[in-house]
Amino acid sequence: MKSTQRPTARGSMRPYTAYYSVSGWNQIQTDSGRCHDKVLEGNQRAKFAIVGAGFAGAATARRLAELYPGEEIILLDALPAGEGAAGRSSGFMLDRVETKIDARNTGPQADWQTAILQAGLGWLKQTTSGHGIDCDWHDIGHYKTSTTLQGARELDGLLARLDSKGISYRRLSSQDIGDEMGTAHCTNGVWLPNCVLVQPARLIHGLLSTLPEQVKVYTKSPVDRIAMGNPHTLHVGPHEIKADVVILCTNVTLPFFGYGGDRQLTVYTYAGMTPELDDVEMAKLGMGATWGATPVERLGATTRKLTSRRFLFRTGFSYKNELPPAEIGTVLREMYSKHFPQMKNHTFEYSWGGALSMTRNGDPIFGKMARNVYALSACNASGILKMTALGKLLAESIKGVDSALLQDTERFSKPSWIPPEPLRSIGVSFNLSRMKKAMRS
Ligand SMILES: Cc1cc2nc3c(=O)[nH]c(=O)nc-3n(C[C@H](O)[C@H](O)[C@H](O)COP(=O)(O)OP(=O)(O)OC[C@H]3O[C@@H](n4cnc5c(N)ncnc54)[C@H](O)[C@@H]3O)c2cc1C
Repeated sequence: MKSTQRPTARGSMRPYTAYYSVSGWNQIQTDSGRCHDKVLEGNQRAKFAIVGAGFAGAATARRLAELYPGEEIILLDALPAGEGAAGRSSGFMLDRVETKIDARNTGPQADWQTAILQAGLGWLKQTTSGHGIDCDWHDIGHYKTSTTLQGARELDGLLARLDSKGISYRRLSSQDIGDEMGTAHCTNGVWLPNCVLVQPARLIHGLLSTLPEQVKVYTKSPVDRIAMGNPHTLHVGPHEIKADVVILCTNVTLPFFGYGGDRQLTVYTYAGMTPELDDVEMAKLGMGATWGATPVERLGATTRKLTSRRFLFRTGFSYKNELPPAEIGTVLREMYSKHFPQMKNHTFEYSWGGALSMTRNGDPIFGKMARNVYALSACNASGILKMTALGKLLAESIKGVDSALLQDTERFSKPSWIPPEPLRSIGVSFNLSRMKKAMRS
């Protein structure tokens, strides 16, 4: 596994996240549709500077370009294209909030979340088809599975909510789970029609490489500091960008810029991708050529059988710091062999971590932070659709394009206060041990 250099000591406030390992998705992607890295050189002047070229930043840039034709927009990322959390994700795009791993709201707030997810899906569908972005778009639904008694109860609760909304699904017997997914580890399961699966690195590369010409994208260009003023000055190594408006779409590093530190915290989750498998091994992973499954339990595993003949396994969390690669490898292998003991071996060609910003109540950080400074953060572990839709809405709120969805977004973006350390760490450990206990039930 290749590693990138870390900018400052682990655990201290950092301007950006430098990961130990590269993303497998980014490594297996072919040259076509790639956003080629271009490092910022020299000083620049722009109307808008967006920091962070993940789903939030890419959507904000695209919509700002539509709303401000001819204005210069600069979009910056610290990492090579596709190496941020966007290109490290598992590629599940679930468009109903009830079916997400951490679905906690009901009533109008849940309806708003579903509306956001569907808006994100609609816009991504339009953008990818309009620009011919080939990101392995599979509109094939997904499995939701549980491995514990507690999970089985939660799955029943989910099905009752789907029944009340008239949403269809297919309940699976243990035999079905074995036949379709090749695992005996999951004791309960259901197939849900709502989910598009994509190759996430191809998607983010495609989104960045098809931005209008007025958007200049610079990668491997970390913003070290922002001097607020009129205009603001962004310091990128020895270079400066002067911008009238700054938009921070930096995910976990928002607190580094002075915002959201008492509202969001950072967790890492981990994924592994196998080498290409032969026909015998592929057949052991169920009948279909490709499928995806998410767990009911928050500490469960997300799995995908891929058309590229590989298998993807995501599991595990750590608070604040990324686990060292050897530890990630052990966690992933243990869980993979528990779920799929029949495989010839349990090696991963790539394994990697990715950083997520989480709020206590699951609300995003959205909107104006200071004069001509805006932020969008707190994906709460699943942000492909959400951060895309919110990025589009953030651009619209800057321009003053009103809509019912924007009004609801402002109403429901109220992340609650998180106590500082050491209470924060104590709270996180308490929650993690509660979830681990539930996994043993
Ligand atoms: C292993 C894993 C699996 C996941 N699976 C899914 C899934 O299946 N479905 C789903 O919806 N979500 C999934 N997610 C979550 C998803 O990746 C995030 O929700 C999403 O990427 C958030 O988008 P974002 O634009 O807010 O942040 P990011 O994608 O993290 O983008 C922020 C960008 O800001 C850049 N940045 C930060 N600081 C600076 C700085 N100082 N200067 C310049 N640039 C900076 C970062 O390098 C980064 O690229 C997964 C995440 C991980 C890690």
